[in-house]
Amino acid sequence: MGDSPYQQLGLKRVINASGKMTALGGSAQHFEVADALRDAAQHHVELRELRDIAGYRVAERAGAEAACITTGAAAGIAVGVAAMITGNDEQAVRKLPRVDGLADEIVLQSGHDVDFGALVTQMVGLGGGRPVVAGNTEGVTVDQLQEALSDRTAGLLFVQSHHTRQAAGVTLAEMIGLGRRCGIPVLVDAAAEENLSEYVAAGADLVTYSGGKAIGGPTVGFIVGSRALIEACELQNIGIARAMKVGKEQVMGLLAALDRYPGDSGWPDRLQALFNGLSGIPGISISVEDDLAGRNIRRVGLSMSSNESLEDLVRHLHGGDPAIYTRNHQLKDGLLLFDVREVAHQDIDVIISRVSDFVTLNV
Ligand SMILES: *Cc1c(COP(=O)(O)O)cnc(C)c1O
Repeated sequence: MGDSPYQQLGLKRVINASGKMTALGGSAQHFEVADALRDAAQHHVELRELRDIAGYRVAERAGAEAACITTGAAAGIAVGVAAMITGNDEQAVRKLPRVDGLADEIVLQSGHDVDFGALVTQMVGLGGGRPVVAGNTEGVTVDQLQEALSDRTAGLLFVQSHHTRQAAGVTLAEMIGLGRRCGIPVLVDAAAEENLSEYVAAGADLVTYSGGKAIGGPTVGFIVGSRALIEACELQNIGIARAMKVGKEQVMGLLAALDRYPGDSGWPDRLQALFNGLSGIPGISISVEDDLAGRNIRRVGLSMSSNESLEDLVRHLHGGDPAIYTRNHQLKDGLLLFDVREVAHQDIDVIISRVSDFVTLNV
């Protein structure tokens, strides 16, 4: 295999066994998506009309009335919040993030201010919103959420993510019920979720997704929802969304990725190959683990007699060349995870031999 352009810059080769991590460049594109990006880059197009057609196609996929393409889900939160504040008032759109007297409060529950690399509430602020966090670390009730509403409330925000602490929280159905009763729209951050229609079908007014996570597209995203609010989202392109400009390449890459989605079922084979290879190494125990958030992902688990050796193994994999990144959320429970979705087939053997080298020397 030839060097990647990143190696030509002198950067280390990366094998990503940690999942779809922004810090490692999100998804590696399928060649059909990469081709769509390259072809798109070589021509002009009426961007306004491209956005409309792409919006139509994405909305159809999600069973929504309309859709707006964004640079990602973080931008989707900012633009969605802006739309809930300004509606179709052009003057207000041009003034954001100053709101001059408009209702600007965005109510969310404690535990939903997720840090995905930046904070959800900061994206709310970027869109002109003032976050109002209801409840505390113990939990949140529908009554507490309702008490946080006022005539300054512009919208409700629900974060659907494995990063939230939702055990004692308000469900999305409850929040949508409250929004309906009070005439307040609900925006859902579903950045990394796989199901493109579930939250719209549940009655959410706006739902934002990342194109580079579950869908496997380039660095892009979208918002799906009601026609009136999506029009207000599009209008932000003469305001704050100009600082989050989406290129024609990203739009076409997103459509190509959606055409394939959920195409790559190749990973169960790679999971099996890694499981088999690692199982042959004495001194470690290997398992297959379900996703803790209930998504349709399985991963290879590795444990050994001491947690210190497990941390040494992480450093051995990470520090070598190529650098192998693993999923380390459950290390404290004695479990190291390998997520093979972004691992090329030929790299499975590289992982096996690097683990084997470590075990020979240390266990
Ligand atoms: C990743 C993530 C985001 C940001 O998505 P981008 O597409 O990278 O902008 C927002 N919210 C949550 C919960 C995320 O996991």
